[in-house]
Amino acid sequence: MSETALSPLCAGCSIDSDMADRIILHCDCNAFYASVECLLHPEYRDVPMAVCGDPNSRHGVVLAKNEAAKRYGVQTAETIWQARRKCPGLVLAPPHREEYVRYSRLVNEIYLRYTDQVEPFSIDESWLDVTGSGLLFGSGPEIADELRRVVEEETGLTISVGVSFNKTFAKLGSDYKKPNATTVLSRETWQSLLYPLPVERFLFVGESAAQKLRQTGIHTIGDLANARRERLVSLFGKNGGELWDMANGLDEAPVRHFGEAREVKSVGNGMTFRRDLAGAEDISLAVSVLADSTAARMRRHHIKCTTVQVTIRSPNFHTITRQKRLPLPTFLAADIRAAALDLIRASWNERAPIRMLTVTGSGIVPEDATGEQLSLFETGSAAKREKQEHLEAALNQIRDKFGRDSLSIGSVLHNDLGIGKYGNQKNE
Ligand SMILES: [Mg+2]
Repeated sequence: MSETALSPLCAGCSIDSDMADRIILHCDCNAFYASVECLLHPEYRDVPMAVCGDPNSRHGVVLAKNEAAKRYGVQTAETIWQARRKCPGLVLAPPHREEYVRYSRLVNEIYLRYTDQVEPFSIDESWLDVTGSGLLFGSGPEIADELRRVVEEETGLTISVGVSFNKTFAKLGSDYKKPNATTVLSRETWQSLLYPLPVERFLFVGESAAQKLRQTGIHTIGDLANARRERLVSLFGKNGGELWDMANGLDEAPVRHFGEAREVKSVGNGMTFRRDLAGAEDISLAVSVLADSTAARMRRHHIKCTTVQVTIRSPNFHTITRQKRLPLPTFLAADIRAAALDLIRASWNERAPIRMLTVTGSGIVPEDATGEQLSLFETGSAAKREKQEHLEAALNQIRDKFGRDSLSIGSVLHNDLGIGKYGNQKNE
């Protein structure tokens, strides 16, 4: 082989791809549930309408609203009663989760034409890493604009897209301007765009965390980025440090390949309590909170578990692990809680103190792997399960929007176990 034959190969080697910034998009469907309902029922399009957990109850909660309802000030998570006071003619629609799942697939299939690194964050949001797609499809903002056009043409839905060099900023970008907009947070512009925003607009800052931050003088995202990192660690533990890193553009988390989330083997949450659990009431409270967060994480990943496992540790570090197969795959907190309590009652003296407790779902299957088995085992209660799924989906919607602590059973808000406080929970 002659020397000249080698040189064309090396010509491209001067670009070190590791040094270049990634190009990450976050795509968010606008008013997703309400938009899907308007596609299915064109008569909803020009009247104020809201999708509600239980439209027949005054206490039902608004899950999503269309643009017309927004103009009346109707807000997600308020009750039908509150919404109707602002907008007496508000049309109420029940949710159709299977349609939302169908549209979610359609939209993600479009994203997958541009890259195989498509990571759904929830039913209507996905991250895309298009760093390697430039030659074929153009720059980040060009791909974002094209996605907005193609998604609208092919599905009728509009999306907002954030373009940045990491996942956190891409997500904040898609939230920056809605509906149907592209926002670029580049190395040059992110500080001027993000720093003035109130701190609760930042990812993972729920209402209670925001309150804590404001009490220490951190009111904006800029304040958060400019605070001392150790100060955030002292406020929120390890999560506080990560929060600071993200606010300073140091988020290096990769965008997963599509479907990777389904290879999760188990999802669980564990806690060491501020004081030992003692008695059935403490145990029930702790299991409720752990089952709840485990269920929420499974739902976010669109997976269900077929086995529930508990690990119990005594104050002198005696540890037992017990598990139980479920009759049906589930991502319902109520199912996980019931199975975990059964296991504890069967294997632990409820009066013996517990220092640490973990609740884990394993035997993971995709969330849509239920249909057949449901009809085989439990036709009678299918409607009841569906109702429970809607209820828990509604609660999750509110938590996603307002932070994890926004909805808690009364006893969780006032306990001395250290439950329900931001940053106090260990994810496994
Ligand atoms: Mg959305």
